[in-house]
Amino acid sequence: MNSHWGFYDKLRPLQIEAIQKGNPIAYLPWGALEYHGCHNPTGLDTHKAQHLCVDLATEVGGLVFPSISLAANLIKSYPGVDFPKHSIEFSEGLIKQICTEYFEQLTAQGFKIIVLLSGHAGEPHLQILRDVASEFNQKYPNNYFWTFAEFDILPDDLLVANHSALGETSLQLYYEPETVDLECLPKDREITLELDAVSGKDPRPSNSIRGEKIVKLFIKNASEKLEALKKKYL
Ligand SMILES: [Zn+2]
Repeated sequence: MNSHWGFYDKLRPLQIEAIQKGNPIAYLPWGALEYHGCHNPTGLDTHKAQHLCVDLATEVGGLVFPSISLAANLIKSYPGVDFPKHSIEFSEGLIKQICTEYFEQLTAQGFKIIVLLSGHAGEPHLQILRDVASEFNQKYPNNYFWTFAEFDILPDDLLVANHSALGETSLQLYYEPETVDLECLPKDREITLELDAVSGKDPRPSNSIRGEKIVKLFIKNASEKLEALKKKYL
């Protein structure tokens, strides 16, 4: 049976071309290996971006590329905190180069819309990925390069940029509940960035229902934008 989406690395050439013909859209889930406190796995950003891209591709069509777990500006080097372990950090220059080489080759391979979903919101890491997309939108006006983070297209009362807080933890509980341990968090004091590696709202009330709400609205908003882009660029 023909499908309108698939994993690029699990398909043969004719299968790739069949999907590309109707939906020349590439999804590049971009995450990180980064300490996310005692309660979340190190690959949260990667898994979040990967799952959201798969759900989006299922809805809109296209090819999902293997996720990239290379990021700069991790909590490891955040000023005023001390979390040297469980993060693998790369330089900003390398991030820019990898993004540039991916975008260039995805364009050469016939993709018209390139969706880079960044699960990691460290700065300037995310801005670098956004800037490369801007450069490519200028260079290839008949293609569209969309770098964004999930919170870009969601209302602030549902999700803002956060690190292992209520938003990210609820998403992880929705997609991979077995990887989360809320019990390791302290019960008798406030949650802080310095002690718990959490930036944002208290993660202790996180749950999969909240995660599902975030995912549903994300898919709705992202697919509307992509359908509009398909009309313009395909
Ligand atoms: Zn994260």
